[in-house]
Amino acid sequence: MDRIVEIEKFNQEEESNEVTLRPDAWSEYIGQEQIKKNLGVFIEASKKRQEALDHVLFYGPPGLGKTTLALIIANEMRANIKVTAAPMIEKSGDLAAILTNLEEGDILFIDEIHRLSPAVEEILYSSMEDFRIDIIIGSGPAAQTVKIDLPRFTLIGATTRAGMLSNPLRDRFGMSFRMQFYTSDELSKIIRQASLKLEKEIVHEAALEIAKRSRGTPRIALRLLRRVRDFADVAEEFHINHQRAQYALNELGINSHGFDEMDLRLLNLLVDAKGRAMGLSTIAASLSEDEGTVEDVLEPYLIANGYLERTAKGRRATRTTYDVLNISLPNDSETLF
Ligand code: ADP
Repeated sequence: MDRIVEIEKFNQEEESNEVTLRPDAWSEYIGQEQIKKNLGVFIEASKKRQEALDHVLFYGPPGLGKTTLALIIANEMRANIKVTAAPMIEKSGDLAAILTNLEEGDILFIDEIHRLSPAVEEILYSSMEDFRIDIIIGSGPAAQTVKIDLPRFTLIGATTRAGMLSNPLRDRFGMSFRMQFYTSDELSKIIRQASLKLEKEIVHEAALEIAKRSRGTPRIALRLLRRVRDFADVAEEFHINHQRAQYALNELGINSHGFDEMDLRLLNLLVDAKGRAMGLSTIAASLSEDEGTVEDVLEPYLIANGYLERTAKGRRATRTTYDVLNISLPNDSETLF
């Protein structure tokens, strides 16, 4: 099923559309205040020392602005940035080719960095630590190791699954930052900023309405904004007003807590279990999704908002789950919660 709040990367058309909405300066990057503050200091310090920035790791659910931050860092450092994703680096030779093409001070951004193969990761270790790689040429007794020096570069890694990173890789990042979900106020600022770029103004209440239904995620907020704009355009309305936003979001099936059909299926599953905890594999099988998607895409927002609880025995509904689904609590709820 196609989810309007699908958090996987957009298809090519939407990605290229998105680029125009992507902030390229600190001033346009809303929220994540602590990260911005710390990064600002580290960037200024390395600029003063005229050194490349230390390696940076961003982790957290998709669509929260990791790639955008990497681009802003490059902009601030006035550095070139090469953007790639782990699945595109299949062999160690692929990585060696990328690394040897870098220049002093360049930034290499690797998305989904937890998906690098062990052989490729191995090459990355020495390049991050010693700015050097060892390449083996030939095979058998005639094989030779050639050492290649690399320019001082900055690696920025992004991952939705910090837990899947190997320790040696994690340890080689000088800084790591966990991305937070955005508040409705922050999202509504992002929406209004984007609406100006799209040249379709949106009233404050409408922006807030979209924000509340965006699962704390800018990528979803911007996607919903575009769809709502379509409704306003068809209705030949000059601005996006509150009523049109509400109408469009309802038509799109986005519920007022920001849940979409997949969230609701998951929450209903837990409620049907009548307080028993359900294992990740059972949930994934019931939803016909893989475990990684349930854990990294569906659950973080539900857990952060108290709609779902992770216990040693598995996942459970909470009182809030019953409240938001408008389902009365089971009779033994006193002992359950
Ligand atoms: P990630 O790399 O974490 O999956 P992205 O950096 O691709 O997320 O962000 C998704 C979209 O959301 C981007 O196109 C960007 O325009 C927007 N976005 C993300 N974070 C912010 C922010 N803090 N302020 C404004 N826009 C943002």
